[in-house]
Amino acid sequence: MDLITELEAFLPSLAKLRRDLHKNPELSGTEVNTAKRILAFFAQFRPDEIISKIGGHGIAFIFKGQAPGPTVIIRCELDALPIAEQNDFEYRSMNSNISHACGHDGHMTIVAGLGHMLANERPKCGQVVLLYQPAEETGEGAERLVEDPKFRSLNPDHVFALHNLPGYPMGSIVVKPGTFSCASRGMIIKLTGLTSHAAWPEHGRSPAIPMCQIIEGLTNLPSVLEPNGVLTQVTVIHSRLGEPAFGTSPGYAEVMITLRTETDESIPLLVEKARNLVQDKALSAGLEFQISWTDEFVTTSNHKDACRIIEQAARSAGLDVLPMEKPLRSSEDFGRFTSRIPGAMFGVGIGEKRAQLHTPYYDFPEEIIPIGTKLFLGIIYRLLDETIETQE
Ligand SMILES: [Zn+2]
Ligand SMILES: [Zn+2]
Repeated sequence: MDLITELEAFLPSLAKLRRDLHKNPELSGTEVNTAKRILAFFAQFRPDEIISKIGGHGIAFIFKGQAPGPTVIIRCELDALPIAEQNDFEYRSMNSNISHACGHDGHMTIVAGLGHMLANERPKCGQVVLLYQPAEETGEGAERLVEDPKFRSLNPDHVFALHNLPGYPMGSIVVKPGTFSCASRGMIIKLTGLTSHAAWPEHGRSPAIPMCQIIEGLTNLPSVLEPNGVLTQVTVIHSRLGEPAFGTSPGYAEVMITLRTETDESIPLLVEKARNLVQDKALSAGLEFQISWTDEFVTTSNHKDACRIIEQAARSAGLDVLPMEKPLRSSEDFGRFTSRIPGAMFGVGIGEKRAQLHTPYYDFPEEIIPIGTKLFLGIIYRLLDETIETQE
């Protein structure tokens, strides 16, 4: 059986794995059962080495070639999101308020397909590391992973990953050298004043109006910054004011905001402007304020050579390659890898009419599974199979 027929024959097992993963999603940092499920599935592939508990609940499956050569990492993500799924098919999430709304169930399955292919035929040289990364959605996983001595001992030469992309034609491959996805940072603002009787609000210091001014001012910051075509974005994601007690004027407020820019260099200016604005509004209203930061993502910056390899592999698999005009506005912690190791992330289109990522009706389309697996395999062969390399 040739390799592609081999993959086709294995698709029902992959679809079953994908649905099992979809049904049992886990939040960032708590991917215990997902990791167990993946470990159990990979037992049939007999990898040469398995490193578990890497960077948290991460797992690396290593498939070695006959001769020495480069190490290629193919990375996917273990985690799901705190979103209540609203689909009603049989394999919908069984865990309340948690779902695979980013398609990481599909990404994991594509990489499991690679496990099957590599079990049947090892690369000619070097080694392939199939890396299941925890905690992508909070931006913590990749950083913890690359700092893990177990990861560093792998000495990777190349790193690749994909993300499914709604809004692009089904099965198209989206490649972009340079910035692929934006940098972002979560800002938590706490305002403390003084409660008072609702009948005499003048006896207290309510953060209600300053909170609104901060929300409005921060939302308008991108237009004030005049970014010269460089994307700058501020999104209010949460706020809270006082308590639901009609006799009390509030003394406390909290606002959470995501700051986002197209380059790593423009984040500090946005951070400074945001901090100054909060300080102005809080101090002029006699409030104490506290600012903290979380969910810090750098840009994912793709290396040119890695993009060229993706394009070649895509074209020889007969797939359409589309350029990406602007980087994805979303953030991706894969940037922690590409800032250290040559590599790239590419997109796989899932259709123009699909539910968007992180929405309650999203579901990963299984037609993408063989496309992703074949493309990764093409990339691996280009880097680790001398016969293909010498042909070019
Ligand atoms: Zn996501
Ligand atoms: Zn994602």
